[in-house]
Amino acid sequence: MNASLDILPLSSWINTEGKPLVIAGPCSAETEEQMLETATQIKEEGFAHVIRAGIWKPRTRPGSFEGMGEAALPWLQAVKKETGMPVAVEVANPQHIELALKYGVDILWIGARTTVNPFNVQELADALKGIDVPVLVKNPVNPDLQLWIGALERLNQAGVKKLGAIHRGFSNAQETKFRNSPMWNIAIELKTLLPELPVIGDPSHMAGKRAYLYELAQRALDLNYDGLIIESHRDPDKAWSDASQQLTPAALGQMLHDLHVRKESYGSDYQSQLEVVRGKIDHLDRELLETLAARMSLVEKLAEYKRDNNVAAYQVDRFREVLETRAGWGKSLNLYPNLVDELFKLVHMESIRKQTEVMNQVSA
Ligand code: PEP
Ligand code: MN
Repeated sequence: MNASLDILPLSSWINTEGKPLVIAGPCSAETEEQMLETATQIKEEGFAHVIRAGIWKPRTRPGSFEGMGEAALPWLQAVKKETGMPVAVEVANPQHIELALKYGVDILWIGARTTVNPFNVQELADALKGIDVPVLVKNPVNPDLQLWIGALERLNQAGVKKLGAIHRGFSNAQETKFRNSPMWNIAIELKTLLPELPVIGDPSHMAGKRAYLYELAQRALDLNYDGLIIESHRDPDKAWSDASQQLTPAALGQMLHDLHVRKESYGSDYQSQLEVVRGKIDHLDRELLETLAARMSLVEKLAEYKRDNNVAAYQVDRFREVLETRAGWGKSLNLYPNLVDELFKLVHMESIRKQTEVMNQVSA
């Protein structure tokens, strides 16, 4: 696959003094007071370059808070006036773009639920023709790199040159630690295909919970992301949306202070190239282990079911099926057949060991 974009570097449209770009602010604009107080506190902490706020909120189920709409835009004007900082909002249709620009919004972003739909993205691209405004494109909710690149290309073809990507993770079929699985390899692939494209990490929507923000933000920085977008609210527990993932401006300031910004490791010399590749391998290996751990926890569930229904741990047909299907998958991925075979024999052995252990426990 190849891709190319004709874009301007991030530093040409926002000055971060060489540091990663930080966009902070509440998930949603709720009241003028909440916006002004949150933004002023963020400004005082001194770490952020841009204030974010959701005005139109795409909610999974109707009946949740769907944003204040146009009424909130003058509050953002007030925030700009008060703090002198640029503001960013999510837009999902041409009318949103028109209103946001009318009220002087500086940066637009396209949400994950919009990026999935090429019709929708094309409408936005058409509306942006001839308009000089930076646009950040969140990854689509499903792990489809082509769709993400496609959205970036549509905007770029419409003449948007101040362009960036936001990696917010991908929705899960089953419950996992994170609200949205990072799948770092997809973003790494994006950075590899489009090295000039700024990529910003959104640990808030990956995490879903405050407790995981630090590790996710650190990983984004370790991967040389160009910035972070993090939700911050003056009183997170009382937020009207995404309460459990937001931080007070002070807590966010502390977190950003504790993060390590790694040395720029991109460069033309051999050693730094090596470092970049090794870094990517480290992250993939970590994902491999995370996947293995998720698999083992499913095995544990299976074992409890087998125990409670008095079924044997080992079933030869299933083992054969596992080896056969994995061999086929491995082949289509060009993996050496012995590697796949040995790997799944090992994984299966461990799975039997675990199941035997669980089945010998007394049922709860
Ligand atoms: C948001 O940034 O508040 C938001 C709705 O994000 P996403 O599109 O990533 O779900
Ligand atoms: Mn949110």
